[in-house]
Amino acid sequence: MKLVMLDRDGVLTEERDGYVKHPGELQVIDGAAAAVAQLNVAGIKTALVSNQSVVGRGIISASMLERIHEKLRAELAAAGARLDLLLTCTDAPNSLSERRKPAPGMLREALAHFRVSAHEAVMIGDQVTDLRAAVAAGVRPVLVRTGKGAELLAKGLPQDILTVRVYASLTSAVEALLSDR
Ligand SMILES: [Mg+2]
Repeated sequence: MKLVMLDRDGVLTEERDGYVKHPGELQVIDGAAAAVAQLNVAGIKTALVSNQSVVGRGIISASMLERIHEKLRAELAAAGARLDLLLTCTDAPNSLSERRKPAPGMLREALAHFRVSAHEAVMIGDQVTDLRAAVAAGVRPVLVRTGKGAELLAKGLPQDILTVRVYASLTSAVEALLSDR
């Protein structure tokens, strides 16, 4: 495993009703920064792969999203963690987008950026769109119960998602991924 791609809301940061619209509304999930730091120490590249239609819907500006991500970087840095790449798709949900998850565009960009093959990468998400994007990119899908993950599991995974590993949180997912490397 050379690359771990991470969804933002519900995986790295708390899922928030009505979007994160300001840096003050961004809250890193307990233990998530430490988990990213473990990946950094292990020499595994980390990439944020996040749909942010909050911009495309006109709710916040692209520069506000930048400020929110500056706060994310600062909070991670305080725990000795960093994201090696930060990709966002600001397209609105109804746009014909090759980047917006469940499309695999951002995942492919991350693979190309690090010159990593799909089978050497993992995508960790909390929604079915994350899992579908992973499958479409040929990347191993991992689901966490934080964010919307528990709700998705309660409803039952759709039939096109055949094999997915499930963990309580980013912390336990990273622990398991690092131990069975
Ligand atoms: Mg999410």
